[in-house]
Amino acid sequence: MIIKQKGTMDIYGAEAKKRKYVNDILHTICDKFNYGYIDTPIFESSELFHRGIGDTTDIVSKETYDFKDRGGRSLTLRPEGTAGVCRWYVENKLYGNQTEPIKVYYIGKMYRYDRPQLGRYREFNQFGVEMLGSNDIMADLDVISLAYNTYNILGLKDVTININTLGDQESRDNYRTALTKYLKPYAKNLCPDCRERLSKNPLRVIDCKIDGENEVIKNAPITIDYLNKESLTRYEKIKENLDLMDIKYKENFRLVRGLDYYDHTVFEITAEVPEIGHLALGGGGRYNGLINLLDGPSTPAVGFAMGYDRTVMAMEYSGFNFDLKEDIDVYVMYVSESEKETAAFLTQELRMNDFITETDYLDKSLKGEFKSADRLKAKFLVILNDEDLKNNEVNVKDNITKEEKLININELVEYLDSNV
Ligand code: AMP
Repeated sequence: MIIKQKGTMDIYGAEAKKRKYVNDILHTICDKFNYGYIDTPIFESSELFHRGIGDTTDIVSKETYDFKDRGGRSLTLRPEGTAGVCRWYVENKLYGNQTEPIKVYYIGKMYRYDRPQLGRYREFNQFGVEMLGSNDIMADLDVISLAYNTYNILGLKDVTININTLGDQESRDNYRTALTKYLKPYAKNLCPDCRERLSKNPLRVIDCKIDGENEVIKNAPITIDYLNKESLTRYEKIKENLDLMDIKYKENFRLVRGLDYYDHTVFEITAEVPEIGHLALGGGGRYNGLINLLDGPSTPAVGFAMGYDRTVMAMEYSGFNFDLKEDIDVYVMYVSESEKETAAFLTQELRMNDFITETDYLDKSLKGEFKSADRLKAKFLVILNDEDLKNNEVNVKDNITKEEKLININELVEYLDSNV
């Protein structure tokens, strides 16, 4: 027997229905915020991620699914959505005559060779938004507001938005210098990965899962102390506006999201979930350096990605009522061959008139069909019978009140319309 790969999921039944429900909400929210749907490829050239995310990140150094195709090309299954969107933007020269920022969102599968556990998979889903072409704080606020309201609408009312700022390039450089100077004497106390990160990008040391709890890191310099005046003003303005918009946030000066291309705003969303505890549900920030790194003109951008599977899990553990539809409108029943013809015709007719309709595909007896209809929680039964059909009539049974009525076939839709 061939079984599914470690860290992957088959999603079906009630779980699939929940995700469809969540998808509908995500599409509706993005419509309101005026983000357009985008679907970029699941595999891209490896270079995109190695350059775009950075070779020293865990994602790229340890977690990517890299492979060669039959033409010898080096490809990678996307570990996140931002790089693909930026590649699309640059490839199509969308920066050309653009007078408005580009706002897009995606919902799709991502791949990371992570250690599978509850809420951590190798094939997982992310929902994300990107706004390309604006450096204004209005763009940062748009993305944070979308993230905040999405979790709220999904019933996760007490999520925490942890925010911080890295400042502009000058502030980041000052911080980097100070951090390197501080960390160097402690190099031997750091994990082997961090010793390497120290020279390549010390900000990533702050992010390290292993060293994060180390006293050395806990006492390390923090970004806020190295901001120049403009960067600090910008950050203060963002916080003022978040207060005005009633978006609750918590400052976390250790939050750096150690990717090279982030600057200014960075944020992460966490929740305390019953039975599970602390869960990281998403994150984002401003990445003014990325498009340039991918051969495009220097373009400001800001985005956010939600861990989709974890968010659904958090909703489940928080007792969210998904309000899943479990019944059907009509079950069409028949026994003889001639009734079968009418059944096929009527089933199609009812479906095309918006009734969720089922029928028998297994040549069951009438008794078997009644059982199926009950199992499917059919509200109405259309019971075909040759005698009635001669008069162009069908027997319609309300499966809740058990009331039965003979209805003319041509009036069936109208009858059900006023009763379902
Ligand atoms: P990142 O792209 O690393 O900032 O991740 C954004 C969100 O995606 C995280 O907060 C998680 O909720 C989710 N996520 C990241 N990696 C995984 C994974 N391996 N399995 C499930 N969800 C993940």
